[in-house]
Amino acid sequence: MTETIGNQAAAPTAEPAGTEQDALRCTQAFLGYLSKWTQPYKLLAAWLAADLQRLDEKKSLTYYTAERLFQLGEPRVKATPTQWLAQQWKVLGGFAAEHEAGLIGFARQKGFSAYCLPVKETGRGAGNPSEYRLQVKVLPAGETVLPDAQTSVGMADGRVHYIAESIVRPAWFLRGVFRHDMGLVLQGWRKALFIGYWLGVGGFSLLGLLLFLLGSQQAAVSPGAWLQSLSTLAIVGLVVWLAARPLIRLIDWRITSAPSAWLALSEEPAQMELIRGRKDLGEANRIRFVRYSAPCPLCGNKVYLREGGRQFPNRMVGRCEENPAEHVFSFDRVSLLGFTVTQ
Ligand SMILES: [Zn+2]
Repeated sequence: MTETIGNQAAAPTAEPAGTEQDALRCTQAFLGYLSKWTQPYKLLAAWLAADLQRLDEKKSLTYYTAERLFQLGEPRVKATPTQWLAQQWKVLGGFAAEHEAGLIGFARQKGFSAYCLPVKETGRGAGNPSEYRLQVKVLPAGETVLPDAQTSVGMADGRVHYIAESIVRPAWFLRGVFRHDMGLVLQGWRKALFIGYWLGVGGFSLLGLLLFLLGSQQAAVSPGAWLQSLSTLAIVGLVVWLAARPLIRLIDWRITSAPSAWLALSEEPAQMELIRGRKDLGEANRIRFVRYSAPCPLCGNKVYLREGGRQFPNRMVGRCEENPAEHVFSFDRVSLLGFTVTQ
């Protein structure tokens, strides 16, 4: 009896020779760039390596069952393959929404012609379990590869090439209005909610002011009331500042640091970006949480965006993880290029 842990049927593909290798290597290199070695990402890396080996052996890409992926993942847990994979798929199922934009940017910069994404296909035929495969995607047409492709560390021109490495998940209380891949589309009831938020902030400020005025009228009678109303005003002021500042900055500058309370707990610092929809295509404006990064052209470590602070007011700047004081770069969200700003 033959063992049937992996279905050997070829996954559908109609790409030119070499494209599949390129696609798998691109996603593999992208994982290395992300360096986020949690269990699901480790599984994807092992999966890519297994399929790359198949291609090296002149075999085609294949479908994987939960059992086969369980073997690749080598988990040290007591769970059935299906249970274990369901956990991993919570992350890998959202891989495209989270990283496709970043992968496209990464592929373009490094000179890859394609990239691949993990996909799940539910039961081909009745009674069959779900199967998983790597879907090869060729770079969108018309996308030219940058001239300095293949360079990563010590780019000759010293420019920084940013990518949107992750579209970041919002906090649980925002998930009803934010779509992971699109963000908050300012259209219909979502737009009304956004305006409602501003009205709420405005109403709260007025209430604070009213309480303060009432309190100060009583101040003549009791000195304690004066202190109390002053502290009420301070608290209301702080809440309004925290609630309104990020959005005011967003509208003014199109991009700003996202308040960490608005992001999912597992997320690292990210930016909040306002994307103008093309009116001729009937697109609405939208707000998304995103994390831009780039390899540092001076030392090869990662450059992340931070607010410029007093040194670079009203700007987002890229600061290198390893040398945040000296390896500092501008950030242009349109061209995704940066230049050194410390001379
Ligand atoms: Zn650096």
